[in-house]
Amino acid sequence: MKSERGFQHAGREQGLRERRDDSYRDVAKMPDPAACPVCHATYLKGRWTWLDAPAGAASHKCPACRRIEDDFPAGYVTLRGEFLPQHRGDIIGLVMARGESGKRDHPLQRIIAVKDVAQGLLVTTTDAHLASVIARAVHDAYKGELKLDYSKDENFLRATWSR
Ligand SMILES: [Zn+2]
Repeated sequence: MKSERGFQHAGREQGLRERRDDSYRDVAKMPDPAACPVCHATYLKGRWTWLDAPAGAASHKCPACRRIEDDFPAGYVTLRGEFLPQHRGDIIGLVMARGESGKRDHPLQRIIAVKDVAQGLLVTTTDAHLASVIARAVHDAYKGELKLDYSKDENFLRATWSR
């Protein structure tokens, strides 16, 4: 379980993280076709899919698996407030369902972890868009307050929902 301190630390290191982030998006040296040896996603004609890899595809770990391995999220969703403990199971169910459909449609959009933190729950994702989908889904279902802080290039999102 990641500590709250770790989460704060991530915020302070934001500039550094965004620079390092480039290494996950570098497609210039991507072999095509390629297959991820961890999740078996296939890189084909410039995009990651769940199609079967063609014969001769190179073995290359996908950016989502690398982020999971490094515990290096592109999205943080913090869920907090007094409403949360009473509805924790339903809210986690909704978060996981959004995570599953995100992953099904977009191989690089995955939940890394759902953790208990001092404020409530912290959901980390491999993709900023998935973090926004999850945060908006919780807000749509349970109302409350939602705050979305994107990085300038929108590749990183910190979302906070409270009720
Ligand atoms: Zn993978």
